[in-house]
Amino acid sequence: MKDKLLKWFKDVYNYNDGVQVYFAPGRVNLIGEHTDYNGGHVFPCALEIGTYGAARLRSDRIFRFYSMNFPEKGIIYSSLDEILSAGVLSSNRKNAWADYPIGVLWAFARHSFMPKIDRGMDILFFGDIPNGSGLSSSASIEVLMAYIAKDLYDIDISLKDISLLTQYAENKYVGVNCGIMDQFAVAMGKKDHAIFLNTSTLEYEYAPLNLKNKKIIIANSNKKRGLNESKYNERRSECEEALRRLQTVINIKTLGDLSREEFETHKDVIKEETLIRRAKHAVYENQRTKEAFEALKKDDIKKFGLLMKESHISLRDDYEVTGLNLDTLFEAAILQDGVIGARMTGAGFGGCTVNIVDEECVGAFMENVGRIYEEKTGMKADFYAVKSGDGPYRL
Ligand code: ADP
Ligand code: MG
Repeated sequence: MKDKLLKWFKDVYNYNDGVQVYFAPGRVNLIGEHTDYNGGHVFPCALEIGTYGAARLRSDRIFRFYSMNFPEKGIIYSSLDEILSAGVLSSNRKNAWADYPIGVLWAFARHSFMPKIDRGMDILFFGDIPNGSGLSSSASIEVLMAYIAKDLYDIDISLKDISLLTQYAENKYVGVNCGIMDQFAVAMGKKDHAIFLNTSTLEYEYAPLNLKNKKIIIANSNKKRGLNESKYNERRSECEEALRRLQTVINIKTLGDLSREEFETHKDVIKEETLIRRAKHAVYENQRTKEAFEALKKDDIKKFGLLMKESHISLRDDYEVTGLNLDTLFEAAILQDGVIGARMTGAGFGGCTVNIVDEECVGAFMENVGRIYEEKTGMKADFYAVKSGDGPYRL
């Protein structure tokens, strides 16, 4: 991969001496969906697929960005002065893919790392994860940019702080109101482990992902998440409203503070049926995620799979963020031989499902689920067998 990146770098910038090559993973959330902004737990793992970056510092204050995934956009230019003068949700944004890495440099500047960043860079990116499908290509390119900056400018910042800084960049520069999970999972990834993260305290623990003869199969619905952003914001405010009503009868900071029993005792104060279902998902999903962590620690993958299925059903019926495409993938998956667990992953409406499948059944799984999906939706799904991988590194 390194040679490929160096060759592409030379094709684009006409030199490649002194260029370094880096990688940051994508991530898949195994369970704990729409819990991150509700003060609950998430349980993602970093992947071996992700984003590569080849980079070298320049002697002037110019930045040049190029992505092999967006060749039609050509080289995108920026400068240290442009980045330094930009404000929150600034009009300097280019509304292009390069806002993601530029936003990270901007976030460094706003957190007084700037004396170190004293000159520009030429960078070329290449991602081998699908964009906009819920495997977090955005966090992958952001964490990669931060890691490259840390290495080339010799900035003293921990991986945990990189996750916070890059979330800040996505929230305040790109303008996407994401929780901490994506950046945290990408920055803190550890091969053969999933990360059990409490999103309100950032306490975390690794659990061994000992799948033996089972594979993690991602099924991409190839449906873009059109309505996603407005629905996402709607779910957030529905949960906030449910929380406010619950807080009139019980002392909690987030929905993640509630046990199932406490929720059932107090839920009537929420009144509206829709809001009750939204809050129920947030509470129950958080409890499922804790149980899934315990199950994995005990090597009980069967239990883990059952919890994944319950998670999908709750996202479908109570939270209502699945839709025909994800439901078809899920329903086709659970009928197949050798399927331990299946659920939608990411924000929903489109994007991917994550499945745990016995190795010897993977071929039939992909064929059958692919066929049923095409019959029902008229669209083709893509399948990837993925492995859990490490956080960012230099090749
Ligand atoms: P997701 O994070 O689920 O993949 P997002 O919409 O949050 O989807 O982020 C996708 C966006 O991130 C892309 O449209 C692009 O702007 C940027 N991006 C991700 N990977 C790359 C890449 N390799 N090259 C350029 N831009 C990228
Ligand atoms: Mg994203």
